[in-house]
Formats: sequence, C-alpha cells, structure tokens
Amino acid sequence: MVNQQVVETVAVKLLQLAVTKLPSDTKKLLQKAYENETPVGKSQLKAILDNIELAEKTAAPMCQDTGIIIFYIKAGSELSGLDKIESALRKATIRATKEIPLRPNAVDPFTHENMGNNTGRFVPFINWEIVPGNELEITVLPKGGGSENVSALGMLTPSDGVVGLKKFVVDTVINAGAKPCPPTILGVAVGGGADIAIKLAKKALLRPINEPNSDPKLAKIEQELLQAVNSTGIGPMGLGGKTTVLGVKLDYAHRHPASYPVAVVVQCWAARKATAKIYPNGKVEYLTHEVT
Ligand code: SF4
Repeated sequence: MVNQQVVETVAVKLLQLAVTKLPSDTKKLLQKAYENETPVGKSQLKAILDNIELAEKTAAPMCQDTGIIIFYIKAGSELSGLDKIESALRKATIRATKEIPLRPNAVDPFTHENMGNNTGRFVPFINWEIVPGNELEITVLPKGGGSENVSALGMLTPSDGVVGLKKFVVDTVINAGAKPCPPTILGVAVGGGADIAIKLAKKALLRPINEPNSDPKLAKIEQELLQAVNSTGIGPMGLGGKTTVLGVKLDYAHRHPASYPVAVVVQCWAARKATAKIYPNGKVEYLTHEVT
C-alpha cells in the first residue's frame, strides 16, 4: 500500500539532495576533466567545482535555474494506492519550492502565468514504469532550461545510418556552443518514433555517467561520439578546452523501416538527479546519495 505521506517526504528529500549535491558520477568526471584541462578550461572547471562544494556546504541549490521537475517512477505491480502518488509528488514539489527554496519556473505558455511553486499543467511531469514486486522507486530529474533549449530531434533517413547519427550528434553540440553550460552530458537515442527517441534519450541521462554501456556495440559508439564531440574544442563554458562533453549515454528502440529518428537530449554540468526506493515495511533507501 502506497503511503502518501512517506512518498511526499521522500520526494521533498530527493529534490533537496538533487539540487544541492551533485551525484558522485558527474562530480568524479568533472574532477578528472579538471586534471587534464588547458589553463582556461581548468579555470572554468575550478569555478564549477567550487560552486558544487559551496552548494553542498550551505545546502543551497548549485544553480539558480530550477529547471522543469521530472519524476521517473518504478512502481511494483503488487502495490495498491498508486493513484495517490501523483498528488504526493505535486505536494512535494510545492513544499520543496518553499522550503529549499527553489526558483519557481513553471510558466503557462499562453498567459505566462507562473503559479510560483514549480507546478502547472503536466508539471511536475511523471514517467511511469510498472515493474514486478511491491517496492516503489522514485527518481527526480530537475532539467535545466539552457541545456534543454539545445536538445534536438533529427528525423533522418535509414540510409543515413550510424554515420548520419554521429554527424547529427556532433552538429547538435557545435550548434549548441556555450549555451548549455558545458561540459555537458548527452542522452542519445535512435529508433522508435519521434516521441520514443526523445523519451529514451532523456531517460538515458539517469544511467551512471561514468560507466560504459553494458552492450559493447553501444559502448563503442558512445566512446566514438565522446571523442568526436570533444574534438570540437568548445570546452568548459564554451571558452575553449578539451572537455565539451563528460559522457554520452546511448539507447535505442527498433524503428519503422522508413524512419531513422535520432534524439539528443543535452544535460548541463548541473546534472541533478536523485533516486530512492521505498520498501513495503516503510524503509527508505537513497540510491544516488549518502544520507546520514
Ligand atoms: S543550463 Fe544548467 S548550469 Fe546552465 S543555467 Fe541552466 S541549469 Fe544552470
């Protein structure tokens, strides 16, 4: 049975963890990049790393841009009361906005009205997955606007193939330049339809950034893409350097014979995400962060 109050409390905590403590996968890659960077790149990465440390120490958001708040739910099929989750996540978003505090970012596209609490129509957005069992896993991904603005979808043709995919990814990074606050992380997906490719590309950002793909074929393409985008020289914050992208996460779906959709979802260095699992006995385990 889903306990609405527990879901709300955990979701507030997840939002607080996500915005104040960068998960160790991205932090380690930023530190590694700092060791290898040019003097200009180093100075930018130092400012980013200092900012991350300051956010942790002061429990303040690491970036003023709250982003749009997205949840990913893995709900055990044996759980009852799943209908309570949406309102718990909405309440958690409102509470977190006030308590952390977070800049209110959700705006009506027609009237420009801002509810002042990071909620609105379809915001926070909830992605659902039903899995076997009786546990509930909640992930939050506050997705920054600057990097989202340069995300791209290409409806390529099957004859473009993997070469076309690589060109599209590199072009996306070049067109983005400094706008997404590099170094970035790229979620890339090919196949399905337009919507499926974008969904998979964004979800790929939830995977540990510093681990290779479990499929060797995809791991090889991820590495090739990483080398290609880093050869652009855009560098940290677009001021030049070796590290434009920290990691590429690739996913795919089977496609229509006539279609070759490629989605690139760009995530800035402030790769905020946090996950927790709620067990049937009420125990809560935080999977991405150490919680004392
Ligand atoms: S793109 Fe990322 S780092 Fe840049 S302002 Fe937005 S959330 Fe912050």
